[in-house]
Amino acid sequence: MFSLKRVANAYFCGRNFTNYMSNRTFTMIKPDATQKGYTGAILDQIIKAGFTVKAMKWTRLTEAQAGLFYEVHKERPFYGELVAFMSSGPIVAAILEKENAVADFRKLIGATNPAQAEEGTIRKLYAASVGENAVHGSDSDENAAIEGDFFFSKLERF
Ligand code: ATP
Ligand code: MG
Repeated sequence: MFSLKRVANAYFCGRNFTNYMSNRTFTMIKPDATQKGYTGAILDQIIKAGFTVKAMKWTRLTEAQAGLFYEVHKERPFYGELVAFMSSGPIVAAILEKENAVADFRKLIGATNPAQAEEGTIRKLYAASVGENAVHGSDSDENAAIEGDFFFSKLERF
């Protein structure tokens, strides 16, 4: 019988499914960067660094959605500020693919605090402060999958 599960099994036959999944990360271009007009330059840098876009959308988080996305930081003193900032304007959310995606993307964006970020990194070039730091990058394969699922349905990934 024809079923989506059978098609998926056939499609992934002969591939290492775990490796396939771990080659993805999730990013957001944050409201500071979209509002300053840096979206195009940041996407250009990401693509030139060898990442392929698997899903992308321009959207805006509600406070509730921003609170849920950054729930791991709920007890931190900057949580309220972070949620207000992340819902203050439009963002670009994207799933990116590349070998070693999570670690390579963290390297490309630089340290959380742009003052400590290496020259040439996205945060060094485009971020103003530790709070408003231009981009998000997943910190593990597991979180990359969770965060991608937060924004995108299966029909929105290519
Ligand atoms: P992100 O998860 O957004 O990629 P990160 O992994 O580099 O950033 P986290 O420790 O996960 O850093 O912090 C999440 C976000 O919370 C940071 O990107 C920043 O916007 C905000 N943040 C972190 N530390 C501070 C701080 N000391 N003061 C204000 N905001 C902060
Ligand atoms: Mg983080």
